[in-house]
Amino acid sequence: MRLNKAFPSSAWLWGGFVCLVVTLGIRLYLVQDRQAGHVQPQPAAAALFPDPASAAFAFVGPRTADQLQRVISDTLQRSDTMAQSLRQHGLPEAQVVQLVTALGAVHNCRSGLRPGDVYSLTLDPTGQVQQFTFVPYREPERPVVVEPVGGRLVGRCVVQPLTVRTQVLELRLQSNLYNAVKAAGESEELTDLLADDILGSVVDFQHDPRVGDRIGLVYEKLYRDDRFIRYGKVLAAHYDGKTVNQLAVFYDGPAGSAGYYDGEGKSLERSFLLYALPYRGITSRFSYQRFHPVLQRTAPHLGTDYAASTGTQVWATARGRVVHAGWKGAYGNAVIIEHANGFQTCYGHLSRVLVNRGEFVQQKTLIGLVGTTGRTTGPHLHYEIIKDGRHLNPENVNKGARGRPLDASQLAGFSARRDSLVTLLRDSAGRGQELASAVPATDDAVRQ
Ligand SMILES: [Zn+2]
Repeated sequence: MRLNKAFPSSAWLWGGFVCLVVTLGIRLYLVQDRQAGHVQPQPAAAALFPDPASAAFAFVGPRTADQLQRVISDTLQRSDTMAQSLRQHGLPEAQVVQLVTALGAVHNCRSGLRPGDVYSLTLDPTGQVQQFTFVPYREPERPVVVEPVGGRLVGRCVVQPLTVRTQVLELRLQSNLYNAVKAAGESEELTDLLADDILGSVVDFQHDPRVGDRIGLVYEKLYRDDRFIRYGKVLAAHYDGKTVNQLAVFYDGPAGSAGYYDGEGKSLERSFLLYALPYRGITSRFSYQRFHPVLQRTAPHLGTDYAASTGTQVWATARGRVVHAGWKGAYGNAVIIEHANGFQTCYGHLSRVLVNRGEFVQQKTLIGLVGTTGRTTGPHLHYEIIKDGRHLNPENVNKGARGRPLDASQLAGFSARRDSLVTLLRDSAGRGQELASAVPATDDAVRQ
């Protein structure tokens, strides 16, 4: 930058002046941003997204404007909201609201934000949003891109499939399922899948397991690059134990009958879970004649008492509609759910009720917490099952129940699938290993 006084024409003077102002302006802008610690070179921002080939992450804006853009990148901490995090970078409130609204339209920010979620915001030289990208930590395959469209910010979710790896594993129970899964280097998500979704209605994991029982598994693990994201489907599980022997095969037949089946193609799905909570023991069984500890006289006990500490989660044992949620005399805080085919379930003595009357719940929805409200001597769940007004013994409800079988047209396909999975389980007994491509991935996993 120089002003050449040898040519004092007004055009040169004006040109030089404008040039000086622009240069100073750029310097000031960059210095301010460096002080605030916000300027990041573009390659660093691009590295947030492990798949640079994706067009969705190509940065917009002309290359010549690189130095004029401002890029803000941050990782959400525990208890951060998106708005708080953006405000910390000095963004005007109106812009914060627009960004949060656009993101919220495609991503559930209230329950969906987690520590570790990453975002990157590119502002143009006038401070307007050029692009905002958000990558959820738990679901990195579903990043959100927010861009200006017709004068307002619009978000869209860009789904990128995860890689499916199918594994075979044999668990040996020494104490319980949780520890066996952990010892195999897997997480409790897998324990939950097994104990609840797959075998939960046919194997009582509180009482059936014995030391030395084995569980063979064929299951999917989903990866983004080399990072494990979550489990896909458990394709087959075989519980081979002293008191129980149960095969579960996932089958998604052409007739829309996706689910777990036993070796003969009978569904493992049952109307009711075997129990409504993880419990320590049964303190009082179903009986028409019981000596009541509080009343000090004989009275029928038309339910089962499950001992558990105050605050233990209580689940709906079947799908249905909540018909009572709140105080109910001797039951204390109670929930009553109405199910199909004339069934009702009742959950008493809760410390907290977490559903409302009229609400529809799924099997295993959290409905309340164990407590000691009403007529009790200690924390436990009083659980009843009623069919057409008659009380049933909850401990017998699924006993002997046989699931709906696959129809004849699906049985051949099912049998072939079952045989290939059982062969895998047998051949890899005792070893954990990844399968090259012996089993095609489930649609679910591919669709993720
Ligand atoms: Zn009771």
